[in-house]
This record gives sequence, structure tokens and C-alpha cells, in this order.
Amino acid sequence: MILRLTPNHVALLRQETRRVYPIEACALLFGHLNETKTVVRRVFPVPNRLESASRFEVDPETFVRLNEEAEADGMSFVGLFHSHAAPATPSPTDLKFMKLWGTTIWLILSTITDDIAAFQIVEGNLSSLAIEVDD
Ligand SMILES: [Zn+2]
Repeated sequence: MILRLTPNHVALLRQETRRVYPIEACALLFGHLNETKTVVRRVFPVPNRLESASRFEVDPETFVRLNEEAEADGMSFVGLFHSHAAPATPSPTDLKFMKLWGTTIWLILSTITDDIAAFQIVEGNLSSLAIEVDD
């Protein structure tokens, strides 16, 4: 599976991560998906309501509202972004929640290495996605 983002999306995510640091940054990703590729069309930074440097949570009402707007524009919710002060791989807590989120893509930015990586649970196993950055 490939995750496609634009250079602007990546810049926005890095900017949001710097802006809220050391709190973990969060964003919702909307777009289109098919069997081989998920194309992100809209990136929405959202507040981390835990205001934590080690955990994150998105306000459910914000989530519902942004999802409805995206659906009205013909897009689906495809992924969840957060930054964390660890390598760009899911933490044990992330993994626990990933298992509840079906095939949602988890995009993670490490504030230690500055790496950005994408993951998904496929048939119960953690799978990593190739990220394609292009307009
Ligand atoms: Zn994490």
C-alpha cells in the first residue's frame, strides 16, 4: 500500500508539530483510497485534547464535524497523524488503538529523528506503507 501526500501536506504537518511541541501534534487525513494507493487530499491539524507530550486524543465532536465536511466533498477519512518523541514507529499504546481503528492509516512524525512514516494493521499485523510525496 502506498500513501500519497503533497509537499504542502508534509510541510503543514511539520509546521503543526513544531508549533505545538512538546505536546504531541494531531491531524486528520481525508482523501480517496483504492486497493493499492491512498491519496490524501485534505490534512486538518486538530488539537490534542490531552495536551500531553506522550499521549494524544482528538475531540470526537471535532472528528465527526470534519468527517461530515469531508464526506460532503466526496472524501473519506483515511488516516490519523500524530507526532511523538520517539522513533517514527507505533508505540505500544499506538498499537493498542490501531487495532481498534480497522485499516486506518497511522502517520507518525518523530520529533527525535524528524522521520515520517506510515503504518496500518493488515489482517492483524502491523504493516508499513511507502510514502509518496508529490503534487
Ligand atoms: Zn505515538
